[in-house]
Amino acid sequence: MKLDCELLPRTGADYKANLHCHTTHSDGKLTPSQTREAYQAQGYSVVAFTDHRRYGWYPELMDDTFVPLAAFEADLDTPGQDYSYVKTYHMNFYDCAPETRGEFQAPQPDFAYGDTAALIDYVAGLRAQGFLACYNHPYWSLQNYDDYKDLRGFDYMEIYNHGCEIDGLYGYQPQAYDEMLRSGQRLGCVATDDNHNWFAFGHPRCDSFGGATMLRLPRLGYAEVIHALQNRHYYATTGPELHELYIENGVLHVRCSPVEKIYVITAGRNTHSEVSDSGDTLTEAAFPLKGNEGYIRVDCQDTHRRHAYSCAYWLDEMQK
Ligand SMILES: [Zn+2]
Ligand SMILES: [Zn+2]
Repeated sequence: MKLDCELLPRTGADYKANLHCHTTHSDGKLTPSQTREAYQAQGYSVVAFTDHRRYGWYPELMDDTFVPLAAFEADLDTPGQDYSYVKTYHMNFYDCAPETRGEFQAPQPDFAYGDTAALIDYVAGLRAQGFLACYNHPYWSLQNYDDYKDLRGFDYMEIYNHGCEIDGLYGYQPQAYDEMLRSGQRLGCVATDDNHNWFAFGHPRCDSFGGATMLRLPRLGYAEVIHALQNRHYYATTGPELHELYIENGVLHVRCSPVEKIYVITAGRNTHSEVSDSGDTLTEAAFPLKGNEGYIRVDCQDTHRRHAYSCAYWLDEMQK
């Protein structure tokens, strides 16, 4: 297969982002400016302010070193008295151009859980208004294949949600990602904190700094962040770094920080993998593609079972 494609740009630098965050404007403990301060101190350059049902745009937090993404988290619940058993869709929406929007009330779903056509319309309506859409934490939501197989229009989903991991509700959701991809959805994947900061920094139950999305940008800026999110110029991580990802002459090349295993997951059963010798690590691998993979996505797993996940990339899109 003769295929050449840069999946992650080979120029630019990586900027660390937390794309899911709650503040005092919903049920979080920190104000937006305290959030910026804490995340910047840990090397982050981007935080999306996704308070529940409340659009958050804080232009006063933006400068050359930090981008606050304007965003909100919407929800759609099944009826029920005991919230512990209520199934729910949680969705984050990210504003591509907040400075042109003015006053904005985050619209909430006004239709019943299970009305998938209305849900798809709701997501499409927000995307038409200039938002990117993320499908959040399926397992915390008590959702399964039946709830997400027919979704359409999301730009990405959470392959890892740190708050869910801390709560014992499966932070890692790679199977849901593959099931969405295999059901025909073409979306990326992000890792997020979904932090509420009810526990102090350093406490074992602190829900900050566990899941990050690394954005590859020519320079830091609001428009550059949105462009990267729209073009899958990012990867999700709970630790390892993904340095290079490209296809040359039909061979997929991966370069990363030291890891134990590098997998290429595909639409089918024909995965590719490279595994280090016992006690050793890998920092690169090359995989000749067969051409029938459908999509490819890379999972680099380190010795602490932490992952760097690329987005899925479809071979038929590269061949255009
Ligand atoms: Zn949520
Ligand atoms: Zn949330």
